[in-house]
Order: sequence, then C-alpha cells, then structure tokens
Amino acid sequence: MTEPALAPEQIRAELTDWVTRHWDPDMPLREWRELLAEAGWGAPSWPERWHGRGWPAWTDDFVGTELIALGAVGAPVGLGMTLAAPTLLAHGSDELKTRLVRPILTGEHTWCQLFSEPGAGSDLAGLSTSAAHDGDDWVINGQKVWNTSAHHADYGLLLARSDAAVPKHRGLTYFALPMHQPGVEARPLRQMNFHASFNEVFLTDARVPGDNVVGTEGDGWAVALTTLAYERRFGAMRPPAYDPRPGRVLDEARAESAAHFAVYSWYPQRAGRVDLVIEHAKAAGVADDPLIRQAIARLITLQRVSSWTADRARAARERGARPGAEGSVGKLALSNIAREAARVHSMIAGASALLTGPQSPMGGVIAEVLLSVPGQSIAGGTDEIQKNIIAEKVLGLPPEIRVDKDIPFNQIRFRG
Ligand SMILES: Cc1cc2nc3c(=O)[nH]c(=O)nc-3n(C[C@H](O)[C@H](O)[C@H](O)COP(=O)(O)OP(=O)(O)OC[C@H]3O[C@@H](n4cnc5c(N)ncnc54)[C@H](O)[C@@H]3O)c2cc1C
Repeated sequence: MTEPALAPEQIRAELTDWVTRHWDPDMPLREWRELLAEAGWGAPSWPERWHGRGWPAWTDDFVGTELIALGAVGAPVGLGMTLAAPTLLAHGSDELKTRLVRPILTGEHTWCQLFSEPGAGSDLAGLSTSAAHDGDDWVINGQKVWNTSAHHADYGLLLARSDAAVPKHRGLTYFALPMHQPGVEARPLRQMNFHASFNEVFLTDARVPGDNVVGTEGDGWAVALTTLAYERRFGAMRPPAYDPRPGRVLDEARAESAAHFAVYSWYPQRAGRVDLVIEHAKAAGVADDPLIRQAIARLITLQRVSSWTADRARAARERGARPGAEGSVGKLALSNIAREAARVHSMIAGASALLTGPQSPMGGVIAEVLLSVPGQSIAGGTDEIQKNIIAEKVLGLPPEIRVDKDIPFNQIRFRG
C-alpha cells in the first residue's frame, strides 16, 4: 500500500493539481469518471487494485466535496457506491470485482437491493425466493418487495435460498442479478405520500451466471450482513451541488443526479424537516409560544446530539473500524428525531398540518412530512430490530428467543 498523503491540505493540493491537468468540461461524463478511476480519485478509500488509493474512509467524502468545489464531478450517487461496491469489495471474487466494481465507479451500472419479501423483512433470513443450479447458471424464482429504484437498476443485490434443507441462515446465497432480462419484472408501488420510489419485483426463472455469486454458495447471510451494516450508515441524502456552468461533464452529471434523486425527493420529509421548524413557527406566528419554543429546543438538541454520535461513528471508521452497532444507535436516533419533528410541526400547524397544496403550511411540505416520517423507522431495519441489536451487541443482554434458528428451513411451520 502506498504511504498515504493524509493531511487534508496535501490531498487538496495534489487533487487541485491533478484536476487542473485533466479537467475538460466538454468530455463525456463516463470518460471523466474513467480518469478518476485510473487515478484513484473516485473512491480513494478503495484498495489501489480496485481503483482507489487505499486511504482512510474519510477521504472519500473529502475528495468528493473538493472535486465539486473545484467545479468538477466526483463518483456517482446511488446504491452502487454505497452498498454494492463495499459488499463486492469485501466478498466478491477477483473476477467479479474486475467485472462489476469499475462500472459502478464510472456510473455505467446502477444497482438496487433485492432483500425484502412479502413474508420476510425483519426476519430476512426467513426469505423464500429460491435459487437452483442449472448447469453453470442459477435459476431464481420468487417475489421481492419494497425494492427502491428496481424499475431502472441494471443489477440487483439478490439474497435467495439455495438450500432449504439446512437452518435458515445457512441456506442463503448472495447474487449479483442482471435486472434486464425477461424473468425480472419490477412493478412500481404507490405510497401514501403519493410517491412511487419502490417496487415489487417478480422473479420467474430469472437466470444468474454462476460467476455472479458474491462470496460462496450457502454463505449469503454473512455477505448480507456486510450490506446491512453499510445501509445503516445512510443519513439524509442530498444531491451534489454541482457547478451550474454548462459543459458536457456537468450537464451529464446533473442529469444523472436528477434521475437518481427523483426517487428520493421525499427523503428529506421522511427525516422530519428539522431545518424548517423555526421558519415554520415564525410563519405561523407561534414563535413566542413557550411550549412550542420548548419543543423546538428539545428537537434541535436531539438532532445535535445525534450528529455528534454520527461524528463519533465516522471517526471510528476513519481509524479503520468497520461499521458496527453504532449504526443502529444512529438509525434509531434518526427515527426518534423524525417522529419528534413531525410532532413539533403538528403543534405549530394544528389541524392544517394535514392540508396539501400551495395555501397549506409550508406549501404542503408539512403534510408530506407527516405521511413520510413512518418510513424512517422501517427502511433499513425497523426500530425494534435496531433495539434488539443494541440490546444484544452493545448491552450484552441475552439474545432474543429464536425458536426457528436451528431447524432446517423446510421444517419451519409458517402461519396461515
Ligand atoms: C422507504 C423504504 C425503502 C426500502 N427499500 C428497500 C430496498 O431497496 N430493498 C429491500 O430489500 N427492502 C427495502 N425496504 C424494506 C425494509 O427493509 C423492510 O420494510 C423492513 O426490513 C421491515 O420489514 P417488513 O416491512 O417486512 O416488516 P415486518 O418485519 O413484518 O415487521 C412488522 C413489525 O413487527 C416488528 N418486528 C418484527 N420482528 C420483530 C422482532 N424480532 N422483535 C420485535 N419486533 C419485531 C417490526 O419492528 C415492525 O414493527 C424498504 C423499506 C422502506 C420503508
């Protein structure tokens, strides 16, 4: 591993020099990203062999921000970078990494997560989508649900049951599923906040090449835990603030970001819009109300404390620690803050919090907050599941009773 230039100012100087020599606003976005991958600037924390520099995790965000400040463009946004690449880097064969990691970094391939099923969400290891050998391929049958962006993804992170005769956690295999094939049908679902960001995905004799197994056959649970640990790191997602000047790279990057974030436009509302609380109270003429002031102060205090916990988790990652139980603490805090924010917005707006349209509080944003906040405590593992993880992994309490853990999956009796 190259001795890293870790001081931010050194990184900034090296990056600025590199951008000055390579930036051409008229080149295609993909070509620019190939240059980034070549130089290790797209994801500096990745190993040098896999288009990074082997630097600590914090350098990814730092370099991404610096590239935008320089008027350039960094790595793409999306599940490819946040979930697929870290999972492939941790568990994929060299052949799979060679084939799939670079197109993630260049933005050529987008990804979705095919984990949850109608009968398996929190109890993910109880999933029943089947994977059967067929020559060198695997054939997949079953149904997934809640799959964000599956309607336009190129690949899916698929967890499926390859052996029903062993206990549930041991019979799973993890695949990189090509989405554009006849056996894969993604149907968008309409949510109560009127958005349609996730899908149900029907898998009917869908095929996966044997080489697309991530990890080894039967080892899918361990691989899925890596993906889930990275998923709990998600905070509020914001589109990159690209330089507004015209130019082919920037135009294409803005279009890419707009397409990606169209699906996530309700996520800030899902997080409760704490940023709007004071403005909302002033607009509603209740900023002097002592009870509302107290509720606002409590909410903002919660948010500050949560951001310090996130900073602590980030510092741990910078020291090289893999994401752990602090992700669950942080995720639970985000749910509490979102719920508290919805409560405070409701206190401020009263019954008109339910109104939509231009005349309603904050132009309908408050109604969308109320309808979106429940999603915060479900996505990426529910609050109750985070509490179980904290109880067992952090507090060392006895594990939850799991009666179906050690018997073969095909002998488990299901309700209904
Ligand atoms: C916005 C959003 C985006 C999502 N995106 C994706 C995606 O891209 N890909 C994907 O695969 N999935 C996705 N999901 C699905 C998500 O991971 C599941 O909804 C979640 O894991 C919960 O599963 P479930 O909905 O089946 O609820 P269930 O597991 O049926 O839970 C129902 C209730 O029972 C409680 N419960 C269950 N088990 C326990 C227990 N052991 N102890 C205590 N309480 C328990 C839960 O906390 C919950 O309150 C998304 C969900 C949302 C809301």
